[in-house]
Amino acid sequence: MPRLRTALVLALLVALAFGVIRLVDSTGVVVATADKLNPSPAPSSLANRVLLPDLESGACMSLAPTRAGSGQTVFIDAGHGGLDPGVVAGGGKALEKDATLGVATRLSDLLRAAGYRVVMARTQDTTVIKLSASDSVYGSLTASAEHRDLAARAACANAAGATALLSIHFDAFADPTVGGTETFYDSVRTFAPASRKLATDLQSALVVALGTADRGVWTDDQLAAPTLTSSGSTYNHLIELGPMSAGWVDEPSQMAGALVEPLFLTNPTEARLAGDPSGQQLIAAALEAGLVKFLTAG
Ligand SMILES: [Zn+2]
Repeated sequence: MPRLRTALVLALLVALAFGVIRLVDSTGVVVATADKLNPSPAPSSLANRVLLPDLESGACMSLAPTRAGSGQTVFIDAGHGGLDPGVVAGGGKALEKDATLGVATRLSDLLRAAGYRVVMARTQDTTVIKLSASDSVYGSLTASAEHRDLAARAACANAAGATALLSIHFDAFADPTVGGTETFYDSVRTFAPASRKLATDLQSALVVALGTADRGVWTDDQLAAPTLTSSGSTYNHLIELGPMSAGWVDEPSQMAGALVEPLFLTNPTEARLAGDPSGQQLIAAALEAGLVKFLTAG
């Protein structure tokens, strides 16, 4: 029900603008444990870091393949991070930023072992761009800070020379019984057919692996809340996937891309899976299968 959610997002933005709600229970932070048990080799920083100023440490990291393979580059974006928790559910125990990083880290290990180079938007609990406390209001990023952070993720994907862009998020809805898997891509880019294929491959692999309700593949204008650009026109796309719009998205991503939402964190059963190391491994393995199917297709 992306339309409904768009309405919810708009309502949320209005509420935030008036400062009437508080989203985050700061006592409920969950610390991801799995990475400590199985640490990846220290990432090396991208040379293009110079071209991308004000990055957080651990952001836009290049990770070499650990076995011989095609050497193609996959850009993995663990949604949110740092000051930006994303979805906060389960009384503050389920944070989207933790689940996305857990999945992204495991996916990176799998892809590298399959011979791919991986560039990760972030490798730690941070935003990608350096932010200050004033960029967060009532536990959520300001629209300006979120915009800068998403633009930096697209810039990192471009600097990486990635063949595919995967942004990992989790879903939320007011009704806790709602669950399932959905995937988004942008339909107006010149490479939209490839993005659609990527989104479809990822969605199919996730639904098979997780046994979730198949909520389908959608275009990003069905997810993005319309945002006024500086020129006053409406940008109805995801910043990370959408087309150029002067003054708003000056450096759009230049490769096939998709945004996955494997599970709903507002559904207690699905939230347990998303927060559990074995659940995150299951999601990562499905995403790897979908990516490899896309990358190896003639
Ligand atoms: Zn998200």
